[in-house]
Amino acid sequence: MSDEIRAHTALHVLKGAVAKVLGVKWTAGVSVQGSHGRLIVQFDRKPSDDEMARIEEEANAMIGEDARVEVLEMDRTEAEGRWGNLIYDLFPLPASITRLQIFHLPGWNVNACNKQHTGTTSEIGSLKISKVRFRTGKKLLEISYDVQ
Ligand SMILES: [Zn+2]
Repeated sequence: MSDEIRAHTALHVLKGAVAKVLGVKWTAGVSVQGSHGRLIVQFDRKPSDDEMARIEEEANAMIGEDARVEVLEMDRTEAEGRWGNLIYDLFPLPASITRLQIFHLPGWNVNACNKQHTGTTSEIGSLKISKVRFRTGKKLLEISYDVQ
C-alpha cells in the first residue's frame, strides 16, 4: 500500500475526528504528498492543545478499529438523497458529474471522492499531527500530519 494511499485515506479518518471533537462540517482543502497530508477545514477559532490531542487520539482509535472502508459508486441524486450535502466539500463538483464514487466509513465520514483508499483503516498505520495553524481572517484551520 503506497504512502499516498495511506495518507489520503487518513484525511477521511482525520476529518471524522475533527468533526467529532470540534463539530466542524466543511472541508476547504486537502493535500497529500508521500506520507504527509494536510486537511483544511472551516472553523472559527484556534483549537486548544487538549482538543488537538483528542483529535489525534480519536483518529488513531478509529485506525485501531480496523474498520472496513466502503467505496460505493452510485448516481449523484441517490447519494444526495442518502447523505445530503455531507458528501460535499467547500470546493464544488461540476454539475455535469452525475455518477459519484463515495467513500463511506460508517458513523465516521462520508465523502464524494474518486481517489484510491486502503481497504481497512488499520492499513493506514498511525497518524501524527505535526502542525496546526489557524488563519483568523479566512476562518480556516489547517492541520498537517504524517502517517507512519
Ligand atoms: Zn478519498
